Amino acid sequence: MASTSPSPKDHLKQLLKHAHCPISGFAVAATIRCSLAGKEYLFDGVNVEQSEQRLSTHAEEGAIVAAHTALGPDFVIEEMWVLARPRPDAPRVWPNRRPVACCGKCRQQIVAFATPETAVHAFSSGNVTVSTTAAAFLPAPFALPRSFNAPLAPPVDLIKHNPDDAVVESWLRLAARPGLISGDARAIALKLADDSVVVGAGLEDQAFLSISPAQAALAIAASLGKELKVKRYWPLDNKISDAEQQVLQPFICS
Ligand SMILES: [Zn+2]
Repeated sequence: MASTSPSPKDHLKQLLKHAHCPISGFAVAATIRCSLAGKEYLFDGVNVEQSEQRLSTHAEEGAIVAAHTALGPDFVIEEMWVLARPRPDAPRVWPNRRPVACCGKCRQQIVAFATPETAVHAFSSGNVTVSTTAAAFLPAPFALPRSFNAPLAPPVDLIKHNPDDAVVESWLRLAARPGLISGDARAIALKLADDSVVVGAGLEDQAFLSISPAQAALAIAASLGKELKVKRYWPLDNKISDAEQQVLQPFICS
């Protein structure tokens, strides 16, 4: 979870360092302020690129899957801040001085957890901020009823240090929630190079812009500033698909 002190933009500037963008060199960071049952929470995301580009996740998605893993499906995004900045070695010229708008895919995913009044602020590297609302940036969205009215529970930890197998097993069961489309509950835990373990829950999206447990866990690890080297992984019930193996394979350290 993030701290917005001293300011959302200063926080995002630090968060940009955690983006994993070896292909584009275009780092993006996002923070969301969420509410659930009268409490507020902050979650961070950065982009995580894969050589198979459709497997990449955007910063906004990273923040959303962190919130979904911790809180389950019923949280509401109240406000969001985004900052993008090309790295000096970026292989092409990216927009820099203007705020970068959220892409269409992210707008659909934000709206799935937003209200029409949810505020979205995009910062530039300079002094320009563009603020809008979910209703203004995606009018007439594709939307299905989403709430599960899941029983309220304390937030699920996103990271633990070197937990044993029994702890990971019960942790995965807390994080995994029934998917909106299939009803399947999926989660995975990844042990990283420093022996910390992060957990990610699968997020099924109404428009099939779904994010797999491994994509979620990698996005969460990146936003926490972890090196994306996976020493070991635990899928829920030991079941892992070929697609999930493909997501993880570039990050497995031998
Ligand atoms: Zn996007």
